[in-house]
Amino acid sequence: MYCGYCGRLLRRCVCHEPGSDLARFMARAVREAKPRQRSEPYKRAVPPQIKRRERATLRARHERWHQKLSDDFGEGCANCGATESLVLDHIIPIAKGGRSMLDNLQLLCAECNRLKGKLVIDCRDFTSARRVTGDND
Ligand SMILES: [Zn+2]
Ligand SMILES: [Zn+2]
Repeated sequence: MYCGYCGRLLRRCVCHEPGSDLARFMARAVREAKPRQRSEPYKRAVPPQIKRRERATLRARHERWHQKLSDDFGEGCANCGATESLVLDHIIPIAKGGRSMLDNLQLLCAECNRLKGKLVIDCRDFTSARRVTGDND
């Protein structure tokens, strides 16, 4: 049996222990979401060694994804609702075979992205649920 978040054997998994990255990540989701504002222009991290034209293509694609995700799921972090320092997060990390495609991406703030690390957590349902019920459960 394997953990759905970290993919390790359940007896090796520490996801469900207090103080784990998963616990801290989930704790952020129940904070009161800040009011949504216009997002800042999205700053993409594209390695400098990539040629200018490829960089422009990647940037345009990331811009489209970012826009689509904020249209569909709201303009904040899918986990905590923060509107600062948003990044495109791979729900299934690339290291675990996740692909750079829209259905594997969600907007997370830098802090939630850091806590999520290589865990597999799809937060996009959180935001839809939050929007429908109007609370953070
Ligand atoms: Zn785990
Ligand atoms: Zn966040």
